[in-house]
Amino acid sequence: MSKAIVSSLYDSDVFRMACRQFDKAADAINLPEAIRDRTKYPRRCLAVSLPVRRTDGSVTVFEGYRVQHNLSTGPSKGGIRFHQSVTLGEVAALAMWMSWKTSLVGLPYGGAKGGVIVDPNQLSQAELEHLSRRYMQEMVSFLGPHTDVPAPDVGTNERIMGWMMDTYSNHVGHLSPAVVTGKPLSLGGSQGRREATGAGVAYLVKKYLEDLKIPINKATVVIQGFGNVGSETALALVGYGAKIIAISDYTGGIHNAKGIDVQKALTYISSQRVLKDFGGGEHITNEDLLELKCTVLAPAALERVITDKNAHKLKCRLLAEAANGPTTNAADKIIEARGDIELIPDVLCNSGGVIVSYFEWLQNLSSFYWGRDEVMEKLYGILDKAKASVDAQKKKFGFSRRLAALTLGIQRVADAKAARGLFP
Ligand code: NAD
Repeated sequence: MSKAIVSSLYDSDVFRMACRQFDKAADAINLPEAIRDRTKYPRRCLAVSLPVRRTDGSVTVFEGYRVQHNLSTGPSKGGIRFHQSVTLGEVAALAMWMSWKTSLVGLPYGGAKGGVIVDPNQLSQAELEHLSRRYMQEMVSFLGPHTDVPAPDVGTNERIMGWMMDTYSNHVGHLSPAVVTGKPLSLGGSQGRREATGAGVAYLVKKYLEDLKIPINKATVVIQGFGNVGSETALALVGYGAKIIAISDYTGGIHNAKGIDVQKALTYISSQRVLKDFGGGEHITNEDLLELKCTVLAPAALERVITDKNAHKLKCRLLAEAANGPTTNAADKIIEARGDIELIPDVLCNSGGVIVSYFEWLQNLSSFYWGRDEVMEKLYGILDKAKASVDAQKKKFGFSRRLAALTLGIQRVADAKAARGLFP
């Protein structure tokens, strides 16, 4: 008989949320007790202090984490977040979701995540570089192309991945591009990686709208978060003929029922950094934006924004979870009970990013690079297969789409652990 561990290390709202999702899925597939806890809890974590010399000569020490949730099915994989609200528990929850995601879409990876408690907007470029390099320096013995492979997440980007790859390569004494993905093209990045997550979200939205028999050129779309994922989702959906009626970032949102010029918003952001005072529509708060009437709502910022306070007020037909963990357990129940909203769960919806990260890693390991068309074609092929398997599982067992996706992801990890024995 297994005795449950009580993990105080990771305890937080978001970690408890990920655990409740796991428990529900484990119950639904009768996962044996003997395998539950070791499938559920992270394998290991590292917390590091990161001293950075500031441009005024002073030194600030930042705190960083890396949580490796599962290494049984391959090197662990997952982004690094730079954000002021990062906690170890949040990183652990995000690492857990990475395990189910890579497993669901059939990649030869486990799951991990990293984070640093910092507002990157408050750092100069030089300070950001020092912090990124120091993070990788502290992680050198914990990461590697066959151990754990990071990528960008909230607050990090191609440039930061380039600095981290360079730091690792200098340490091991040779160029090692496969240690991180999401790098600049000049350093072994993949064609299509920058837009992969948003392109994948948009592709799945298009496919689910087809299932619902809603013409995409009649669809209105609301997107919360206009960073890498939100903006690329918007661009791809505009390309398919949809109308984006609201976007936002941490400074607030813009609403325009006639449609927002996404390209103009991106140009504005490239000089002003934030959407504040963009014009192009009326100002709206991030809270009100979620309740706008629309065909598609895509939260693409942080976790736990759809809660028991607003779930019954959503007015969308399709909820596309571009962000990780945007919907709380209580909100999930409300949405299921309503029955009028189709959900594309995060582990499926935003999996395009890690799929193209996998392509980048493969290209780095073989030093053989693919064209963009090949990347996108392979991406859409994997998404089609994952969508079909989730929808078949949903139908077969009468599960919600989230439960269908999670049970598929969790089962594969549990099977691999059971087959390997106790150590991995
Ligand atoms: P990003 O840093 O590029 O963009 C984040 C956006 O969210 C910014 O526009 C920011 O202003 C906005 N934001 C931050 N706090 C907000 C708040 N409180 N309210 C509204 N907006 C807020 O990050 P990203 O890479 O686009 O990641 C967004 C989400 O997608 C995260 O949940 C991330 O884990 C997930 N994700 C990212 C990738 C990837 O490839 N980058 C892959 C899969 C999933």
